[in-house]
Amino acid sequence: MTREIQAHINLAALRHNFTRVRELVGDRSILSMIKADGYGHGLLRVARALENTDAFGVASIGEALALRKAGIDSRIVVMSGFFNATDLALFVENNITAVIHHRLQIDLLEKSHLRKPLSIWFKIDTGMHRLGFCSEEVEVAYQRLNALDCIQQPIVCMTHLADADNSDHSFTQQQLNRFEMATQKFSGPKSVCNSAAILAYKEALADWVRPGIMLYGVSPFPGRNGLQEALELVMTLSATLMAVKSLKKGDLIGYGCTWQCPEDMPVGVVTIGYGDGYPRHAKNGTPVLINDTICPLVGRVSMDMMTVDLRPKPNAKVGDQVVLWGQGLPIEEVAECAETIPYELLCGVTQRATFVET
Ligand SMILES: *Cc1c(COP(=O)(O)O)cnc(C)c1O
Repeated sequence: MTREIQAHINLAALRHNFTRVRELVGDRSILSMIKADGYGHGLLRVARALENTDAFGVASIGEALALRKAGIDSRIVVMSGFFNATDLALFVENNITAVIHHRLQIDLLEKSHLRKPLSIWFKIDTGMHRLGFCSEEVEVAYQRLNALDCIQQPIVCMTHLADADNSDHSFTQQQLNRFEMATQKFSGPKSVCNSAAILAYKEALADWVRPGIMLYGVSPFPGRNGLQEALELVMTLSATLMAVKSLKKGDLIGYGCTWQCPEDMPVGVVTIGYGDGYPRHAKNGTPVLINDTICPLVGRVSMDMMTVDLRPKPNAKVGDQVVLWGQGLPIEEVAECAETIPYELLCGVTQRATFVET
């Protein structure tokens, strides 16, 4: 036995989820979000599996260049755009699309002498209050961009929704109305929807959709899981049972002595901890799966290990595989027990894990 942690990446599930997006959006264009190392699944691995996408979305020019370097020649949109003239040159050089969300970027464009036209998306802030031009700035900014001959047409107008996973639709409706108002005069393509909106706001699908989390098989909605949206979880994270102990009633477990055995009982030690990306805040009772049986986490998660109650699986033995999330154990449940979201768990798996794909 070795201390091996496996992040198993099911590429067939990834493709299935992409097909599910395709079914939902018809012939609209799909920009697959693969920022943060493909939501922790591996940037290139994910990009190569999603060969039918219309474009990729990433957070930074660094991620875009990694794709180009690996020979990915699809359209790539960088959500943060460029920060300075050096950056800008890289966008043009490598044929990468920049999101323009701030007037400083337009200042830079006006001063630059680009060798080739730059492809851009234009971002409008309709209520998220993170990136984008607010309603009062939209007209001037858009005119300045249109006056430049270094800009490729068409310009895609986009906005990002802050609350699309909420069953109360009022804030999103407000954002959709604002976007409609702000873009009335623009004839170019538009893009609004993240995963939650693709599933919940058919009327807002527009020309380009931007699915992220649903591609990885996770439901964007609180209290639901991917299977309920006809999605398949792409990552299965597993570790190994490295010790089995018979503890006595009253014995305390782990750092801080936060859990006490209510009776004589078997306890298992698992080869994974927060140093591998398992959430330290997972509370007592967080489920793990040992040979298809749910066993609850007990005691604090340490850096390299965690402990589980083996009473539901008394015949478990050293060397048995322990699934932390994935096939048979929705990641949404684990995230809830750790008071976080599946996005954070997926992005957090460290390079200590061995990534295996099928
Ligand atoms: C990450 C991101 C998305 C995808 O969001 P999901 O909730 O993962 O579907 C869409 N648009 C933008 C601008 C993003 O940054």
